[in-house]
Amino acid sequence: MSDHYVKVNIQLEEMKSFGEDAEKEGVDAEEQVPVCSPSASVSPPDPSSTTIAGRDASNTSITCKHRGKSRSKLGKDDKNSCGKHTSDVSLHGSVVSAPVGRNLNRLGHDRTLHIKGTGKILQGKSETNGNYVTVHPSKNIQETRREDGFKHAKKGRPVTVDISKAKTSLEALKLSIKQLKWKEFPLGRRAACDIYWHGVSFHDNDNIVSGQVNKFPGMIEMLRKINLSRAVRTMQELFPEEYDFYPRSWILPEECQQFSTQIRMVKENDATVNPTFIVKPDGGSQGDGIYLIRDPSDLKLMVGTQAKQAVVQEYIQRPLLIDKLKFDIRLYVLLKSLEPLEIYIAKEGLTRFCTEPYQEPSQKNLSHVFMHLTNYSLNVHSGNFVHSDSQSTGSKRTLSSVLYRLAAKGVDIKKVWSDIIALVIKTAIAVVPELRVYYQCDIPPGKPGPTCFQILGFDILLTKNLKPVLLEVNSNPSMRIEHEQEVAPGVFEYVPSPVDEDVKVGVIRDTLRLMDPGHKKPSISQHGEEIPMEAETQERSPDEGALPSLCLKQVYPKYTKQFNYLRLVERIASLFIRFLGVKGNMRMGPTAFRTFIRTCKLSNSNFSMASVDILYIDITRRWSGTMPDSREAGMGLQAFVEAFFYLAGRRFKSLVLREQVVSLLQLCEAQLESQSGVEERRSVSCSRAMPRAVRTLGLTNPQLNSPAPLRRASSQDYRLHQRLKPRTLRANVEN
Ligand code: ADP
Repeated sequence: MSDHYVKVNIQLEEMKSFGEDAEKEGVDAEEQVPVCSPSASVSPPDPSSTTIAGRDASNTSITCKHRGKSRSKLGKDDKNSCGKHTSDVSLHGSVVSAPVGRNLNRLGHDRTLHIKGTGKILQGKSETNGNYVTVHPSKNIQETRREDGFKHAKKGRPVTVDISKAKTSLEALKLSIKQLKWKEFPLGRRAACDIYWHGVSFHDNDNIVSGQVNKFPGMIEMLRKINLSRAVRTMQELFPEEYDFYPRSWILPEECQQFSTQIRMVKENDATVNPTFIVKPDGGSQGDGIYLIRDPSDLKLMVGTQAKQAVVQEYIQRPLLIDKLKFDIRLYVLLKSLEPLEIYIAKEGLTRFCTEPYQEPSQKNLSHVFMHLTNYSLNVHSGNFVHSDSQSTGSKRTLSSVLYRLAAKGVDIKKVWSDIIALVIKTAIAVVPELRVYYQCDIPPGKPGPTCFQILGFDILLTKNLKPVLLEVNSNPSMRIEHEQEVAPGVFEYVPSPVDEDVKVGVIRDTLRLMDPGHKKPSISQHGEEIPMEAETQERSPDEGALPSLCLKQVYPKYTKQFNYLRLVERIASLFIRFLGVKGNMRMGPTAFRTFIRTCKLSNSNFSMASVDILYIDITRRWSGTMPDSREAGMGLQAFVEAFFYLAGRRFKSLVLREQVVSLLQLCEAQLESQSGVEERRSVSCSRAMPRAVRTLGLTNPQLNSPAPLRRASSQDYRLHQRLKPRTLRANVEN
């Protein structure tokens, strides 16, 4: 029996009574309501062991197609081998060797960390969790909503979770709920639940008015390859050094010409340079449609309406190899809240290995998919894929086992880990501004609605020089705890995957613990921290006694001090949202843009309101051309940011872009502050009779304070703007 199964058996024994207790509680059948949506996944996995036809795994064409999926029976024992955190290595700065077979009570007490193989012992810092820093000192809507949730959570009653839309995360979710002794509602519930677990999108169920949903509105759209590239590029313009972890990218088809010209120039300047590029379709996942090229003329572009939206990206030619194989890291990140920004990173992740030894790209090997692409979903079909119950061998391993191995070779993994944390925080800072626009559109302040959180899957490559590079962020990382296995030649079925279970159940369970409506909020300190290099322990509340310490580590606001200066676009987004006008809108109309310019006093004799209108039309037209499937007219956030950069450049010519933007932000914010002071004083007398929500809205929404003609014009803008429908939703991807 492998180490893993020894551990699982011990754990099973320990969990038996725990599991039985949970089962006894059962599911409240009366409260279950069938879910009408055809997409609802209400039944447990098909118990019959279905198989799928074999496929040609030897196909080495780099362009890949979607494959069918099958499920196999999960034995009761397998289901009950509740995913504990069995990692031999506890991340956060240092590698830990944990004794094999530690039980569920074991975690959270390690202070002395051994680096196996090196004989190193690190003293962990004993810390409580009281190091929060808040960026926004006043309570905001999201916080208030969450606190209302705490009030509703009656002491003693189990937390309720609607799992009717959980789809492929169902198995891992059920195990997590069982470990927490919470109550699941597989068919939904007539009364409100505390937590709603959606398998794909915020919109899986649009009828939620309270509680918490595990998806943010707009996350799928925001993390598509083009949008992510755009968001990171904006940050690269402001902070080129801080954002050098994302490969240089061009957006197709609109930047095709630019791409060709730039590469030609690079090659003309230095004939020895021979870069490779990777082309990724915008909506693709699991390696679908990806190919490598060495020359812009090899781009497979289609013309007209068939022009494929894609990102072409500099290919990292020298990745770090282990056992001569390329691999990437799947890191789980919890975005706990947008306002205030709260980010947690899972200390344990997965690594996915290629199945053909790596060689630097050459014309001959460009199409070797098993050499260049680390996607699990591709490599699992290579004859060389190694399924292993051990966490440190095989084609899918735990991140800790890989870091342990690197540490044993003398690699400074503390540095690698803190670079990874920085990459995650910076990426979040890049995407949060637009997420806030989606959020206010779907859950306008003052209207009933849930709060949101989301687990994201960061795909990270380490270069030969140990620099983490961001490949992409998945809004729906696969939470499957089974994997496809060829059980007979050409016959595949899903079998339990201990490595997946260990990692993913821990992530879901601890996400739930953090989102527990009765969870004690940690106290908030005034200063952010440096990313520490030692391991930490985390506090547990007394009722969590039987559970391991959290496998999720808070990184923001904890490290606010180091990263807060990057949040410039978010401040621009705050202005944008403030002037958007009618709530529920994502695009700014010309009137609202004029109001912004006037209110912030940005026009003058050199920059007339006519020029303002021309600027609006020019930028908006260009951006709507780059988003052919957008059904909404008006100026989106990205276009507004471009306009803001332009205005900043005009006004503060002598400064560099970053300083120009900071200066204009300060100017606008000062104007608004002085005006809101005046408005506030003016409204005090008449607002006494108004409900609080109306008063609050009035202060933040210039349209409500604006003269009637302006309000009318603004609602005309609004009528033009149909709400952006979510585009095709991506299925959960393991990659
Ligand atoms: P998908 O969503 O289709 O999985 P990814 O962006 O994750 O697309 O790319 C698929 C795989 O291609 C990655 O897992 C990685 O192995 C490889 N890859 C992607 N981008 C790069 C890059 N810039 N340099 C080197 N390898 C890359």
